[in-house]
Amino acid sequence: MQKAGVVVDEVTMVSVVSAVGGLGTLNVGMWVHAFIKKNRIVMDVKLSTAIIDMYAKCGCIEKAKAVFDEMAAKDSRAWSSMIVGFAIHGYADDALTTFANMEESQVKPNDVAFLGVLLACAHAQLVSEGQKHWASLLESGRQPSMEHYSCMVDLYCRAKLFEKAYTFIKNMPIDPDPVIWRTFLVACKKNKNLEKGELAGHKLLELEPYNPENYALLSSFYATCSEWSKMSHMRKLMRDKGFKTIPGCSSIEVDGTVHEFVLGDWSHPELKEIREVLSDMLKRVSSLGHKSNVSEVLHDVSDDVKEEALCEHSERLAIAYGILKTKAPVVIRVVKNLRVCSDCHEVTKIISRVYAREIVVRDRVRFHRFVDGVCSCNDIW
Ligand code: ZN
Ligand code: ZN
Repeated sequence: MQKAGVVVDEVTMVSVVSAVGGLGTLNVGMWVHAFIKKNRIVMDVKLSTAIIDMYAKCGCIEKAKAVFDEMAAKDSRAWSSMIVGFAIHGYADDALTTFANMEESQVKPNDVAFLGVLLACAHAQLVSEGQKHWASLLESGRQPSMEHYSCMVDLYCRAKLFEKAYTFIKNMPIDPDPVIWRTFLVACKKNKNLEKGELAGHKLLELEPYNPENYALLSSFYATCSEWSKMSHMRKLMRDKGFKTIPGCSSIEVDGTVHEFVLGDWSHPELKEIREVLSDMLKRVSSLGHKSNVSEVLHDVSDDVKEEALCEHSERLAIAYGILKTKAPVVIRVVKNLRVCSDCHEVTKIISRVYAREIVVRDRVRFHRFVDGVCSCNDIW
């Protein structure tokens, strides 16, 4: 467009900025933001909101907040982008305060704003606060969407209130979608609740018989519950149907290039160096007494092979590459397509301490910010 000599305006930039948010590449995002300023493109409410959203998705909530604070006029979309941004970063207090400020500013909360506060409450396990907002959502006369219901189920599940979650699901006026059942099943897996987990699993296979993710999840649920024959049955079903699990994939941006790492793919040109960092990482992590949580690996193989498989999870390759190519205080920013597994989460905490590096991982659901051995999610995700 620029080569063709067409003047770029704020409408163009909204699309560009949104695309960057999808990629999660902070450096490209900062370049685009600088481009907007340099070319004096009008920062209207829409564009500012898109930039807030982009910075939040690129893992830099401070920059999102700075753009938000500079806005002269804010509509409900701007407010809700900021609320959701805080929520996915685990800053529940900020999300709730922003929601309160929104109401104070006489801007009516929209669906997304409600979603943001519920998300924040779920991630911080603020059950009664979440229930309060749920009540005010109903009072506002809005029809809660599937996502709102999903957030409430998530809230109860994270707080380990199984019965409440289950009753809530049963009493929903609309049929729960697969996302809700998956949330419930993941919680059952974490808490090894076989009975309720199986129930959720059967619902999932009924609703989505062709989604390989459901079979993989159920299979790993059975592994966690040490139900090996049921696990094998699930894996057989997957094989019979010709399903393959989605491989984990993590990317990291280094010097303006996005490097992508897929589980089991060793085609990166700097493979030798990455392997060296990986083995150094493993040595340092194990010397601190970390024992791998091998239940995260499904294969019917011995524990040391399982441990090896864990070490090859895509986010570890991306983090190793970040350690190899960058120096502190540069933040290692990784974007992952799936949820982070509990073993990688533990290991990343340790790495952030022993290498003295800040690591931000965006997984499918939220952000994790690892600093000095602690994660911003407080181990609830
Ligand atoms: Zn992992
Ligand atoms: Zn975390």
